[in-house]
Amino acid sequence: MDLQAFLQVIHSKNIEVQCDPQDTSCFAYDAANLESLPGAVVFPKDTQEVSVILEAANRFKVPVTPRGAGTSLAGGTIGIPGGVALNLTQMNQIIEIDEENLTAIVQPGVVTYELHQAVEKLGLFYPPDPGSMKMSTIGGNISVNAGGPHCFKYGVTKDYILGMEIVLADGRIIRFGGKYIKNVSGLDLGSLFIGSEGTLGVVTEATLRLIPMPETKRTILAVYNDLDEAARTVSDIVRNKIVPATLELMDQESMRLIERIRPANLPLDAAAAILIAVDGPASQVEKEMKLVETLCLKNGAREVRVARDDKEQEKLWEGRRSANGAMSQNCKAMVVEDASVPRSKLPDMIRKCKEIAERYHIPCAILGHSGDGNVHPHLLLQELTQEEWERADKAVDEIFRAALDLGGTLTGEHGIGLVKKKYMNWQFSPDTMDLMRSLKNTLDPNQILNRNIML
Ligand SMILES: Cc1cc2nc3c(=O)[nH]c(=O)nc-3n(C[C@H](O)[C@H](O)[C@H](O)COP(=O)(O)OP(=O)(O)OC[C@H]3O[C@@H](n4cnc5c(N)ncnc54)[C@H](O)[C@@H]3O)c2cc1C
Repeated sequence: MDLQAFLQVIHSKNIEVQCDPQDTSCFAYDAANLESLPGAVVFPKDTQEVSVILEAANRFKVPVTPRGAGTSLAGGTIGIPGGVALNLTQMNQIIEIDEENLTAIVQPGVVTYELHQAVEKLGLFYPPDPGSMKMSTIGGNISVNAGGPHCFKYGVTKDYILGMEIVLADGRIIRFGGKYIKNVSGLDLGSLFIGSEGTLGVVTEATLRLIPMPETKRTILAVYNDLDEAARTVSDIVRNKIVPATLELMDQESMRLIERIRPANLPLDAAAAILIAVDGPASQVEKEMKLVETLCLKNGAREVRVARDDKEQEKLWEGRRSANGAMSQNCKAMVVEDASVPRSKLPDMIRKCKEIAERYHIPCAILGHSGDGNVHPHLLLQELTQEEWERADKAVDEIFRAALDLGGTLTGEHGIGLVKKKYMNWQFSPDTMDLMRSLKNTLDPNQILNRNIML
């Protein structure tokens, strides 16, 4: 690795760069509990600059870590010490919103929430809504195929990507897809790059699909004395072929911590609650609300509250979105996991997470995009002793073993990153891993991009 030769190229092209550890130290972290100080951080303004950066990095064998807002919970932006962080947040333009074709063209550093607001003004909707959306970027969302509460009904990020511009590890720029909805021309390269966590190329532009904003939305909070009954309700709603816009489960610990920082009138004496939003044409919403209410009561809900107005509705969702922040204020470090299981196995998975955390004496709050079978156990570490970290590691190992035994997967939306890399061969056979690595080697033979994560 010849970082000095790389930096000479960067300076000669007037690309913004920071090398002083005082400036670069905040790029050593993301939202996982890991750290690695980059030797330099580059701030490209456009695709051509990204191309120059990667061509030089490839020539001088300098490892590069693409980076959006750095909210990865998987250590996806934790690079090689002394390598380069490629910060894409200055490429943050919404280039176009096309109301005729229901598409948007954006640069990778656009903040997800800002896109939501821009399209909503026009009566349009971009459904992917990670809990981090007020910070996360579209490039980061694409690179992990992010989900969120709305993905139960509307699908995940990949369902809204129509085309992309990618800079490959050697600096070449490729484009595929476009504003058209139907497209079976050539290999489906989108599937290769979406969710590849920046290991195969850097997203420098995306064409996104938009949909009309649903006419009405109502929110219900179903309250339970038994966590198992809440989990069973989710499976029952799915079994009855009802598709609410969101189906989010919170256990007692989550609600207690949320109420401390963002009071939303959550029932603190309850074992669990499910936050359910139903959207669509008004008449259909009323009908679905009734069905959902019946199923909640049938499965043991002690109370079903309907938010009276938009203000109350937003308060409940703000509470749900602030859950991670609330939890992190009540521990010294937080380990957030993201296993995903078939929906019918959700009650088993939640029971298993609770049992494992109790056995390792680690407080655990459970949230989840439960309609998708996606469970987020939050292990709340209180001491930060080596002994406590070891207990947490063992608990996490068991959580992933349980998810795989239930027919699930290691990650529903946060990605593998550095944190879950060691579990990849639990899920995939040696032949499958070889295929993934050979794709990586074809696109990035010098292992420039995110060489230490995922594979
Ligand atoms: C409070 C909180 C709540 C969260 N809730 C959710 C949730 O509900 N759903 C969910 O899916 N995730 C959630 N996350 C995880 C995280 O926010 C998402 O993974 C998000 O998509 C990351 O976006 P980012 O811009 O921060 O990307 P980063 O963290 O900067 O990067 C993520 C990965 O993408 C790569 N990358 C970034 N930009 C590019 C690019 N332009 N080209 C190529 N590779 C790139 C990076 O190398 C890294 O591997 C949450 C995180 C937090 C802290």
